[in-house]
Amino acid sequence: MQIAIDGPAGSGKTSVARALAKRFGCLLINTGAMYRAVALALSQGLKLSEIQIEVCPDERIILNGQDVTERLYTPEMDELASQTAARPEVRAFLIAQQRVLAQHRDVVMEGRDIGSVVLPTADVKLYLDASPEERARRRCRERPGQSYEEVLAQLRARDARDSQGFGRLQITPETIVIHTNGRPLDEIIAEAVQAVATALQRRSTSGKLSG
Ligand code: C5P
Repeated sequence: MQIAIDGPAGSGKTSVARALAKRFGCLLINTGAMYRAVALALSQGLKLSEIQIEVCPDERIILNGQDVTERLYTPEMDELASQTAARPEVRAFLIAQQRVLAQHRDVVMEGRDIGSVVLPTADVKLYLDASPEERARRRCRERPGQSYEEVLAQLRARDARDSQGFGRLQITPETIVIHTNGRPLDEIIAEAVQAVATALQRRSTSGKLSG
């Protein structure tokens, strides 16, 4: 079973993906974390061919044998990952790995291009959306220390870059869009669980469940 979740930075993808993975017994694969790990490795002078990334069931990211999870979520890494993700060779490298990770196991995979590019035949595709202002407010709560204006400006710049090409942030016709503005997380999760349950039921009765 493959569940794809896409959406812009701060849309709540990770919280929803986590809840869905738990509820439906899937491995959670956060592809943004993989781009962050590659950005970190390249910034340390490694070549793509020298990079090995492991995605653990507890969401930790192992880069060439070292747990780098704590180093991936800083404003600097937000920028660097977004710039690195605009390199076609980086995308090809990670997309191939993401497809392998989703083979022969049940996954919830979250990112920007999962439903459109990485897993186009996913059983369920969700797209989480929220206004830049709402996302900036959430980011400020998660990572205090930066001003709201600063976070909003960075989010807007990242949105612009993250939607440039490579099929990212594209809503395909079969994708279920969940608007999250001003809504509590438990309500958003309940809507996502319902959407997945309905889609899976529909697919299993038509005998088309993948994986
Ligand atoms: O989701 P997160 O903000 O951690 O992703 C970090 C960066 O990786 C994003 O800003 C985006 O540029 C890139 N990304 C991507 N495609 C994905 C996941 C993330 O381009 N599937």
